Amino acid sequence: MKIITNTPEETKNFAYKLASKLKGNEIFAFYGDLGVGKTTFIRGLASFFGLENLVSSPTFSLMNEYQNDNAKIYHFDMYRINSFEDLESTGFFDYLDNGIFLIEWSENINEYLPGNVIKIKIEKTNSEDGRMITIEGENYIENFSS
Ligand code: ADP
Ligand code: MG
Repeated sequence: MKIITNTPEETKNFAYKLASKLKGNEIFAFYGDLGVGKTTFIRGLASFFGLENLVSSPTFSLMNEYQNDNAKIYHFDMYRINSFEDLESTGFFDYLDNGIFLIEWSENINEYLPGNVIKIKIEKTNSEDGRMITIEGENYIENFSS
């Protein structure tokens, strides 16, 4: 599916609604250039669980964990990851299925991702704050259509 948002708030609202359908162990792989809105989307998603204020870019930590009684989120930044060994060292395979995975710079580890990944590609449109969001694998969200 594809949607267009015209403000950061619209992107966050879309992600918030998406979050309301999750079971808690989904894997989201984000694709798109710097400044396109990946972290903004992730803030919206985390806000559904009351975790928005904890969200920060895991640029140096490679992975941030946000947790409360509602959810556990693993937020990865794969910008500096480019081998299977690097990926293993982030704890990626140890944490799978223990929480919601949100992966920025998935381009770098695309070939190592499991099959049941929800792919979210964000691109700028011609208008200043316009973003086209393309989602693949939404069938891995059990309650997606409800
Ligand atoms: P990334 O994580 O992809 O590098 P960020 O989410 O950190 O990007 O930054 C995206 C920037 O683009 C923010 O300053 C945000 O306010 C802005 N922006 C403008 N329009 C949109 C939109 N429609 N959706 C998401 N972000 C937007
Ligand atoms: Mg980011």
